[in-house]
Amino acid sequence: MDKLKNKVAIITGGAGGIGFATAKAFLDEGAKVLLVGRSEKKLEEAVKKLKSSNVSYCTADVSKTEDTLHYVNDTLGKFGKIDIFLNNAGIEGAVKPIAEYPEAEFDKVIAINLRGVWLGCKYVIPKMSDGGSVMITSSVAGLKGFAGLSAYVASKHGVIGIMKVAALEHAGRNIRVNSIHPGPVHTRMMYSIEKEFSPEDPSKARDGFESNIPFSRYADASEVADLAVFLASDESKYMTGTQQVIDGGMMIQ
Ligand code: NAD
Repeated sequence: MDKLKNKVAIITGGAGGIGFATAKAFLDEGAKVLLVGRSEKKLEEAVKKLKSSNVSYCTADVSKTEDTLHYVNDTLGKFGKIDIFLNNAGIEGAVKPIAEYPEAEFDKVIAINLRGVWLGCKYVIPKMSDGGSVMITSSVAGLKGFAGLSAYVASKHGVIGIMKVAALEHAGRNIRVNSIHPGPVHTRMMYSIEKEFSPEDPSKARDGFESNIPFSRYADASEVADLAVFLASDESKYMTGTQQVIDGGMMIQ
C-alpha cells in the first residue's frame, strides 16, 4: 500500500490505457501523480475516475519543447518535486509496408515516440530528486520487427538507446532509467492496430497476435502497471539501464 509514499510521479499519456492503469496503481501505493496528455477532456475524465485528491493533470504535446517545460513546471508548482517519471505517451502510426508508408506519418510517429521521450529525459530528469526512477515505455516492437509498423518499430528500438544513455548520465545521482517492453495490451492502441491489420474482422488480427503469445492472451493494463510500481519503488533500487519484457512469453519464440 505504501511502496510509493510521499513520491511524486509524472505519467505522460496518463489518460490512455497503460498510463491510466499505472496512475491508479501509483495512487494506491501512496504517490502523488500528474497526468500529461493532449486532450483536456480525456484528462479531466481520467482525474474524475481516479477519485483522489493526489492526482492532477497538465495538457501538453510531448513532442514540443515548450509543452514539456510546461508539464515539468506544472508538476513542481503543484507537488514541489519529481521522483518518478513514466515517459509513456505514444502513437502507433500507420500500418503499411515501408514502400507505401506516408513520410508525414513517419515523421509524426518519430516526433512523438522518439523525440517526445528524449525531450522528457532532457527536461524532466535534471529536475528530479536524487534516487528517482525513470521508465520509458518501449514495446516488444523495440526488440523485434513487425511488418507494416516501420515507424513504430524504429521509434521503440530508438528509445532503448535513449534509456541506456540517460541511465549512464544520471547514475551518479542514483537516478535509474529502465525501459518497459509490453507485448499486446488491452488498450485503444491495440484495438486500432487490429482494425488496421484486418479492417473487415479485427478479431482475426487478434487471433493472429494471440497465437504468437504462449499465454494465449493480451495483457491487462494493470499487469503492466504492477511492473511500473516495482520499477518506481525502492524494490528495484539497484536496477538501471535494463529492458523489462512483459509479454506472456511472446519474445521466447
Ligand atoms: P493509448 O492510446 O491508450 O495511450 C496513449 C496515450 O498517449 C494517449 O492518452 C494519448 O493521448 C497520449 N499521447 C499520444 N500522443 C501524445 C502527445 N503528442 N502528447 C501527449 N500525449 C500523447 O495506448 P497505450 O497502450 O496506453 O500506450 C501507452 C504506451 O505503451 C505507448 O508508448 C505504446 O506504444 C506502448 N505500448 C502499448 C502496447 C499495447 O499493446 N497497447 C504494447 C507495447 C507498448
